[in-house]
Amino acid sequence: MKPTIALVGRPNVGKSTLFNRLTRSRDALVADIPGLTRDRHYGHGRGASKPYLVVDTGGFEPIVTDGIMHEMARQTLQAVDEADAVIFLVDARSGATPHDKIIANQLRQLGRPVYLVVNKAEGLRRDMAGAEFHELALGEPWAISGAHGDGVRELIEDVLEHFPDASEDEDARQHPKFAVIGRPNVGKSTLVNAILGEERVIAFDQAGTTRDSIYIDFEREAKPYTIIDTAGVRRRGKVDEMIEKFSVIKTLQAIEDANVVVLVLDAQLDVSEQDATLAGFALEAGRALVVAVNKWDGLDDYAKDCVRREIDRKLNFLGFAKFHFISALHGKGVGDLFRSIDQAYQAAMVKLSTPRLTRALDVITERQAPPRNGMSRPKMRYAHQGGVNPPVVVIHGSNLVNIPDSYTRYLEHSLCKLFKLEGTPLRVQYKSTD
Ligand code: GDP
Ligand code: GDP
Repeated sequence: MKPTIALVGRPNVGKSTLFNRLTRSRDALVADIPGLTRDRHYGHGRGASKPYLVVDTGGFEPIVTDGIMHEMARQTLQAVDEADAVIFLVDARSGATPHDKIIANQLRQLGRPVYLVVNKAEGLRRDMAGAEFHELALGEPWAISGAHGDGVRELIEDVLEHFPDASEDEDARQHPKFAVIGRPNVGKSTLVNAILGEERVIAFDQAGTTRDSIYIDFEREAKPYTIIDTAGVRRRGKVDEMIEKFSVIKTLQAIEDANVVVLVLDAQLDVSEQDATLAGFALEAGRALVVAVNKWDGLDDYAKDCVRREIDRKLNFLGFAKFHFISALHGKGVGDLFRSIDQAYQAAMVKLSTPRLTRALDVITERQAPPRNGMSRPKMRYAHQGGVNPPVVVIHGSNLVNIPDSYTRYLEHSLCKLFKLEGTPLRVQYKSTD
């Protein structure tokens, strides 16, 4: 599992500036996909020796006890509770304020490892910047500048040092491991039950905390699968019926750990921003994706038509994914859903040889050549596969630096079509020899 780091602090200390620095996307392709809703509070940490997740908790207003501020504090507390480590930012220029002291007290009670970080410390000596903050009693302060980057790398490496390296579990890659995600009440538990009702369950483990999903191994038609259940079905069966506590971190972790994501939507409600955000997380992680539009029962033809159009409009960036219109409650469409999960898994894990890829590249560039880059014409010589889940195709050649996104998307789309890869995104990268 990737460790999760939460950024906490009063407004204006520099949380979002630091968040942007830590998550700055190298993957402009994903960043620029039209229509993709991005949640600027959750992101993948980049450029460190290990992968991690970052949460910007937004404001922390522990003093106010009602209204929207209270809601923010509640969300912040949940994020802190689910994080593996907390970076508590304070402002070098204002010293330790009463507000900082209240936050420090709350953080101490939560029992997470806390890094006291003095931001905006550019040009200041570490001991000078930190001196004022010893009274917060959270250990030796770090001095950084989120805006300029001073000390940021060292801080993150120090935080990450305490977590084991994420190991690739080879066994788990050998069969479909799919996460059932979606906002509360869309029917995730009902779907998981419908799936498991018919199959032989081999093992399941209990979730530890609210941010842990339940992993269930089962067989279907003599083939092994693992379901990552973010709704926690098994736990809900207990006497004290537990309402799912929706956790973005849990969902993000489940996406990371799956090789196929099943995104469940509620056909009887509008496609919400949260649906699009969750879809965006799956896309950003490069996972194979199947969309289950649930509660398809009880809709008339007109309503069905409206739902289809709304999905086309709001989730148009998921062109590679298969959509299934199902009724988990009545067990309708679950078999077809499985065919798509299998297909998406095969596509995500595909192995393509260099000769096949290079031949495909020839065909595709012949149909439409890459556009000129100023005076020079990009030349694509050969391609090899750089990874799976998602498949990555590395194209070698010269003058490949400024290939427009639209052409890259044309390549990706054409490669998927040629190799009949359905249900997975595919990424093209360039290696230019000059
Ligand atoms: P947030 O409310 O905690 O998310 O704070 P922001 O990231 O929005 O930053 C608040 C202000 O502090 C902005 O004007 C930033 O440009 C500025 N800021 C953030 N980090 C630094 C820094 O390292 N040095 C300086 N001098 N200013 C910073
Ligand atoms: P979760 O929070 O995503 O796990 O959602 P649940 O599985 O708990 O379902 C939420 C509500 O939707 C429950 O009352 C279910 O009975 C209902 N529901 C689930 N699937 C369907 C379906 O296919 N059709 C209809 N009409 N209701 C459904």
